[in-house]
Amino acid sequence: MSDQFKQVHSLMTLLQNVDVGLVVLDREYNIQLWNNFMESHSGLHPADVKDKCLFDVFDEIPKSWFKQKAESVFTLNTRAFTTWEQRPYLFKFKNYRPITGTAEFMYQNSTLIPLKSSAGEVDCVGLIIYDVTDVAVHRQALKAVNNQLTILSRIDKMTGLFNRGYWQERFYLEFKRLQRQPDACSLILFDIDHFKKINDSYGHSAGDLVIKNTADCIRDCIRETDIAGRFGGEEFSLLLFNADKQQAKILAERLLDVIRQQVIRYQGEQIKYTVSIGIAEYSQHYTSAEIWLELADKALYQSKHQGRDCINLAD
Ligand code: GH3
Ligand code: MG
Ligand code: MG
Repeated sequence: MSDQFKQVHSLMTLLQNVDVGLVVLDREYNIQLWNNFMESHSGLHPADVKDKCLFDVFDEIPKSWFKQKAESVFTLNTRAFTTWEQRPYLFKFKNYRPITGTAEFMYQNSTLIPLKSSAGEVDCVGLIIYDVTDVAVHRQALKAVNNQLTILSRIDKMTGLFNRGYWQERFYLEFKRLQRQPDACSLILFDIDHFKKINDSYGHSAGDLVIKNTADCIRDCIRETDIAGRFGGEEFSLLLFNADKQQAKILAERLLDVIRQQVIRYQGEQIKYTVSIGIAEYSQHYTSAEIWLELADKALYQSKHQGRDCINLAD
């Protein structure tokens, strides 16, 4: 055996056994080479696929998309790549990895490389398939955890409403949007009446129950698109979309009424309470979101001043 032949033989053995998929396609996309990796994951022997068109054997590969990639390899003599983020896989192989066994299929990156004939023309493309299931699954798990953390950082633990920080962030964003694209939008601020007395008479835990109950009442009264937040201890803020001040007043009246009917049972005691409400509708005259907030706060203050358990609209 000549040295050169031995080298080619060793190289072929390596290519057959390497832990990536290797496929050679001719100009008509007929399969010319199919290594062990491809055989063991597809269950198809090289003889089963030899000279068969790739798209006939694997109908999961989108023909026009793949051809567009491969044509640039043939004509421009450059490499092309696909990643799992663009397309999770090229070949739909089952995932057998023990650690990332949660993935249903093998995530793949792939590279297409031009292969030249002895005449110097690109007459075949080499397709390299990498199993990136571990990376993909871990990346996705990390993303899910990060999303979860982001959501948690926006929520007030006690009530499940948005916390002040996130509510204000959304409020400023919506204010900017309204400045560009005016629409009916109303802000409601409200505060539990004589809340200190509840804490003093029944204890802090009873006070907490009242706050939680108020949040439940809010959830029952608003629409899914409205943005509700716990603005402070026993203060709440609501941003209502597609609602002028009259529509906001209807909702506020309902809220006032629902809360009047609440009976909080705590250690044999029955606690009843009320809230005071201030409403300000968006106006194009507002030069800042703070002005809008101040007007709603002023209206709330008027409600307190008038004896509580009532609603005031900002001028
Ligand atoms: P007003 O009708 O004027 O609003 O009277 P008020 O007693 O409600 O007055 P104020 O708003 O000053 O009182 C708020 C109290 O709420 C003070 C604070 O100790 C209490 N508080 C703040 N956060 C919490 C909480 O998370 N749980 C409980 N139980 N109390 C809280
Ligand atoms: Mg208060
Ligand atoms: Mg209060």
